[in-house]
Amino acid sequence: MNLILFGPPGAGKGTQARRLVEERGYVQLSTGDMLRAAKASGSDLGQKVAAIMDAGALVSDAIVNELIEDALDRNVGAPGFIFDGFPRTVAQAEALDALLASRGGAIDIVVRLEVDNDALIARITKRFNEQGRADDNPESFKVRLKAYTDQTAPLVPHYLAQGKMVGIDGMRSMDEVGAAVAAAIAGVPARR
Ligand code: AMP
Repeated sequence: MNLILFGPPGAGKGTQARRLVEERGYVQLSTGDMLRAAKASGSDLGQKVAAIMDAGALVSDAIVNELIEDALDRNVGAPGFIFDGFPRTVAQAEALDALLASRGGAIDIVVRLEVDNDALIARITKRFNEQGRADDNPESFKVRLKAYTDQTAPLVPHYLAQGKMVGIDGMRSMDEVGAAVAAAIAGVPARR
């Protein structure tokens, strides 16, 4: 199972990914988590991306594509992959299609979590106050939302054209959204 959790920052992708890891043993591939780990380690990569991430902008396609390729290679044989926060540009989506095809696979489903902007802002403000994540500050969050609108939303037609995108109302409780995600996954064989 190759599943993309798609949606703007604050839509609940990480929360739903963690549920799927616990319930199904899928492997969560979050480029945001990988980049934060690089940043925290102070590696060359971490130093290179720190300022870009803190500002809320996207790092280069080449960097995240390589992180994903390495992670796929390290987890051969996993029962499923959840792509969380990747792809975020059309170039990344094309690279992912090619990466999976070269391994005899393909994206099975793209689950789009739909949350309105006011709710996103409320969620991120709360997370910033509770966790202090640098790029959750109001200025950076504005940049992140704009990056989503300008660079990531164009993926919607890409995956709609492939017949793989399923929209879910992400304004409901975590459990209700989780049940809707499970139902979408259960419908995958019929969509093939
Ligand atoms: P996230 O935790 O997914 O919101 O990602 C946090 C930050 O990491 C983003 O605001 C970007 O700076 C960077 N990032 C994560 N994933 C990607 C990606 N697929 N493409 C470009 N930048 C990314």
